[in-house]
Amino acid sequence: MAAEMTGKEDALYCGSGTMANYVALLTHCKRGEKVLVGTNSHLYKNEKAPFMKDWGGLDPVFFEEDKQGFPNVSNVEEELGNADIKLMCLENTHNFMGGTCLSPQHMKALCDAAHKKGVPVHLDGARIFNAAVYLNVPLEKLVKGADTLMFCLSKGLSAPVGSVLCGSNEFIAQARQVRKLLGGTMRQAGVIATAGIVSLNSLVTRLEEDHRNASLLAKEIARKGHVQIEVEKTQTNIVKLDLSQTKFSAKELEQLLFDNGLKVKRVSDHYLRLTTYREIQEDDIYRAAAIFNESVEELEEKIRVSDG
Ligand SMILES: *Cc1c(COP(=O)(O)O)cnc(C)c1O
Repeated sequence: MAAEMTGKEDALYCGSGTMANYVALLTHCKRGEKVLVGTNSHLYKNEKAPFMKDWGGLDPVFFEEDKQGFPNVSNVEEELGNADIKLMCLENTHNFMGGTCLSPQHMKALCDAAHKKGVPVHLDGARIFNAAVYLNVPLEKLVKGADTLMFCLSKGLSAPVGSVLCGSNEFIAQARQVRKLLGGTMRQAGVIATAGIVSLNSLVTRLEEDHRNASLLAKEIARKGHVQIEVEKTQTNIVKLDLSQTKFSAKELEQLLFDNGLKVKRVSDHYLRLTTYREIQEDDIYRAAAIFNESVEELEEKIRVSDG
């Protein structure tokens, strides 16, 4: 079903997106081979093991990322010309840049550049369905240039667990062996995959609602001007909040928000991430924004008092 929706020949169920990406990289590449990737990509920044010397042993080569997390074609061409690259990795939507979308035209140009050099492309499409909905393009068309891709059934698609790796028949046959090496073969997969079928059948089109809610949340927070927020970058279901210009840390605010009834994710010292999904409705957004804005004011007041 996943293969059909993505226009690939076959697909493989994995216990997590991280595992699906590992399987992809370790199927595409052997130890010591070079992978062209972004420094802010989830694959590099968060998953590490494929690039650790004692684990996957892959050698990262970095392209330059624009503000949305994407490389430009000429930089990629240059990097592909400089070194013996075995694989190029792209991410759509871009998690750490705030759920930004790589357009089909840009994606095609990047994939064409790689293919011209005989380099395959792996797409970390954890939230690719969000991108397809935002960009209003058929999923199959959006991922056409990717030789392989991973997407998550969890996250916005709301399944409790599971991710899928898609690619050619030959690739997936090899990937199945790598998954086994990683302990990812599950006799019980059918039970949990069922939830994924519900996601794919009935929860894709409603992602638009998550995007509307995230955009509303961004506007409600931006309206107060307490923290930096690029409203136009809130394209999908992620709201990225930059706290670098404030007097408090992400950790302090995260704790206060939690105490006041709003659970958010701290991604770094200066960056908080808020995401929307199926169980969050519009009135929750107004409540969340109110808790957020009041908490920031509370922190600022505390700092003013202690500064004397
Ligand atoms: C969440 C995510 C992953 C990993 O998925 P898990 O199921 O959490 O392991 C990989 N890449 C991106 C871009 C993600 O957002």
